[in-house]
Amino acid sequence: MASQRIPLCDLAAQHAEIKNEVDAAIAGVIAGGQYVLGPELEAFESAFARYIGVSDCVGVGSGTAALKLALQALGVGRGDEVIMPANTYISCAFAASQIGAVPIFVDVSDDHLMDVGRLESAITDRTRAIMPVHLYGMAADMDSVMRIARRYGVKVLEDVSQAHGAALSGRRLGAFGDAAAFSFYPSKNLGAYGDAGAVCTNDSYLAERVRLLRNLGQRHKNEHEIVGENCRLDALQAAILRVKLRRLDAWNETRRAAASRYDELLAPAGFRSVRHHSPQAHVYYLYVVQACERDRTVADLAARGVQAGVNHPTPIHLQPAYRARAIPSGTYPKAEWAARTALSLPMFPGISEEQIARVATALIECATPAQPQ
Ligand SMILES: *Cc1c(COP(=O)(O)O)cnc(C)c1O
Repeated sequence: MASQRIPLCDLAAQHAEIKNEVDAAIAGVIAGGQYVLGPELEAFESAFARYIGVSDCVGVGSGTAALKLALQALGVGRGDEVIMPANTYISCAFAASQIGAVPIFVDVSDDHLMDVGRLESAITDRTRAIMPVHLYGMAADMDSVMRIARRYGVKVLEDVSQAHGAALSGRRLGAFGDAAAFSFYPSKNLGAYGDAGAVCTNDSYLAERVRLLRNLGQRHKNEHEIVGENCRLDALQAAILRVKLRRLDAWNETRRAAASRYDELLAPAGFRSVRHHSPQAHVYYLYVVQACERDRTVADLAARGVQAGVNHPTPIHLQPAYRARAIPSGTYPKAEWAARTALSLPMFPGISEEQIARVATALIECATPAQPQ
């Protein structure tokens, strides 16, 4: 059916593949009657910790909460600085701001990831943490980040919300820093059926702090050791995530195959998506290209039945929430260039050869590649 609209992400198709297992998992939680904390959550936490290759995983209410609680558990607080890429999702900055810390932005490179060459000059005596973001599914340069962080004695919190399952030299992202935050927002490579997130770490003291913070400061019921919040990953989501985790590697393989097909079809027209030198280090949460007149291009693609996505049209430093910082536009030129020109093409496990071909044809018909800044 060549005329059918091609969505950015097809969650219904994904559900159809696992419907029986998801139904059984949900029925199991209902039969057990424990909806908050308990065995389903613990089963997912240990399965995910094992998958990532860390000692501890703590399920929380969202990726935003995972970032915030991990920063808190790392001891970041009022007046501390947290360094992050200028081109990322707003949650990274909010996680710092919500606990009174200050997000410090570093411009990105042509690959849209934090330019580690600029990292050292952003470090001050107030820097407490660096937050590399594995954007679009692609590994940040963790060797350089860790080397610099260790030299200056600052903590590293990886944001792996867009790169579940990606690995560098055989080690999964999320196992490099002092802690890692994951979002399981429905569209992510590993997505729940609602909001969900997790913190992973090899530091069991840190994990214990996050466990207290997510559960009103309680280790034992009605004994509140610290000021915490109600921010737990619920048992139904945990049960669904455990079903989907078994498929994650296979789904990531189909995303990679779809990405290389896009690469082949689009390269002759001058479009190139951001690629990674190490193939296992990209799990293509998004397949991003850059076009002149991006917004017009997205509208023209929609008219051709292709839904394209625009992820961070306004960089964080130019958002109204940070107006008081008065960071002028032009401060992070590469991030602003990415925000102006980037769009993502339909990408999901099970996208067909025919859908990929239709998307590529439509893009070539209505878009002009944007040149690097
Ligand atoms: C999705 C995402 C988040 C936020 O996760 P939520 O679960 O929506 O709160 C944080 N960082 C990045 C890079 C993300 O892509």
